[in-house]
Amino acid sequence: MTPANHQDPTRAVHAPELRAAARNLGRRRFLTVTGAAAALAFSVNLPSAGTASAAELDAARLTADPFTLGVASGDPQPDSVLLWTRLAPLPYQADGGLPAQRVEVDWEVALDERFRRVVRRGRATAHPEFQHTVHVEVGHLAPGHVYHYRFRAGRYVSPAGRTRTAPARAGRAADLTFGLVSCQRYDQGYYTAYRHLAREDVDFVLHLGDYLYEYAVNATGGSRAYPAGTLPAHFNHETVTLEDYRLRYALYKSDPDLRAAHAAHPFVVTWDDHETENNYAGETPENDVPPEEFLIRRAAAYRAYWENMPLRRPQLPDGPDLKLYRRLHWGRLAQFDVLDTRQYRSNQAYGDGWQFPGPESEDPKRTLTGDAQERWLINGWHRSDALWNVVPQQVTFSRRYNSTSTPSKVSMDSWDGYPASRERVLAGAQAAGIENLMVLTGDVHVSYGFDIKRDFDDPDSRTLGTEIVTTSITSGGNGSEKPSNWNTLMTANPHLKFFNGLRGYATVSLDRRSARADFKTVSHVTGEGAPLTTAGSFVTEAGEPGLKPA
Ligand code: FE
Ligand code: CA
Repeated sequence: MTPANHQDPTRAVHAPELRAAARNLGRRRFLTVTGAAAALAFSVNLPSAGTASAAELDAARLTADPFTLGVASGDPQPDSVLLWTRLAPLPYQADGGLPAQRVEVDWEVALDERFRRVVRRGRATAHPEFQHTVHVEVGHLAPGHVYHYRFRAGRYVSPAGRTRTAPARAGRAADLTFGLVSCQRYDQGYYTAYRHLAREDVDFVLHLGDYLYEYAVNATGGSRAYPAGTLPAHFNHETVTLEDYRLRYALYKSDPDLRAAHAAHPFVVTWDDHETENNYAGETPENDVPPEEFLIRRAAAYRAYWENMPLRRPQLPDGPDLKLYRRLHWGRLAQFDVLDTRQYRSNQAYGDGWQFPGPESEDPKRTLTGDAQERWLINGWHRSDALWNVVPQQVTFSRRYNSTSTPSKVSMDSWDGYPASRERVLAGAQAAGIENLMVLTGDVHVSYGFDIKRDFDDPDSRTLGTEIVTTSITSGGNGSEKPSNWNTLMTANPHLKFFNGLRGYATVSLDRRSARADFKTVSHVTGEGAPLTTAGSFVTEAGEPGLKPA
């Protein structure tokens, strides 16, 4: 097929007139045009291996380094890892500085960081339809091994990445350590936390959402305070179109600390709201936009997410749908049920925000996961042979009152706004007989450690598990160790064992006896080079859930 008659599904959201209309969301006329546009935007033509969807650019003709956005790996399995890169000599340009032609990229995987003992190599195609991103699923690897990988295009060699496979499925893996991150709004600070995390000895990093934010980024990079004019003007509007989202990922991945963390560790990612739009719920956007319009935007956001994350083929989006919930195993030590609490949720009750609970939020029909994901989660627990049943997800699971008077308001965007959904999940965990439940959360830009109570209104009820909430990497700016509502929250929620409002990340270590969580913080994010502090450390024993100071 020639480029001229190639039906690039991205054109539907590239078209200048749609783009101009989308920019001005105040005029809601956008997308009365969209019958045809939707059909195009929702069709994904993944070129099959070996077939040409556009002319080929000989990699030997590249005249500038295309590996400006680094490398990444993800979703480790016992015999395979997913390797990622993107070719973009000019990453702040919509076309990345490449023509709409495919490029062949070589990759290799070695046992050593000097690539003397290469165990696997091959060739992959960077398709212009996927913004010249490369996703390689490398199989036939040994379980529980560290590997080094890199790409080559023409005379250019990518930075080397380090990754690892999961231990054998039936094996008695002895221990595991992973990092937890979320909420990395670029224009609210430097990624110093990532610089520290890149040096940690973790097996992988879990990203719990808000990898990017849709909000405008000005020419000084917001509170990064670059010299005026450092960033192009096109970042200075909210992301709406596919081109907007793609460019925004390029901006984020241009950060050297984020690239260092990706190169150092495999990532297991899930999204929250801002990869698409603040507080959207399923097909319902934040603002008063009809669902059919919003789904065009969602399709663009989901596609750019898959392109730019180290995700496997089963997560390839189909228009406005992307199956992100999935299960990973670390031998029989841990099962990870990665959730998506955005795509299938009922709309927030009482108009969202902090509200008193009532009949609307307590409607048993409301769901945060959708029925299919809920069944999948609970069925997976029934079949689980893991000692630790870990649930990486987005929004705060444990009850959080923001006042000591009764009744108290709760956040309608979190599980508190979907109590029937939470009750079904807790009842399911209990019925499945899982002993060691650990929920992992982002979103709120503070660190929390919770005991998960069978009945949060009864402090004497059984503790079913623990929830570790990781703070933001940057979102919200510097923050403070003791936010102004610290005393209120600690008093109103006796199951809340730790609360810290600085930025950073968390690490969790599991073994056969216990789990340990360390909350790590940086003193500030508005300047570079802040030191790292361990602000709190807790353990929970296998078979005896509940956080205790380590
Ligand atoms: Fe956030
Ligand atoms: Ca969020």
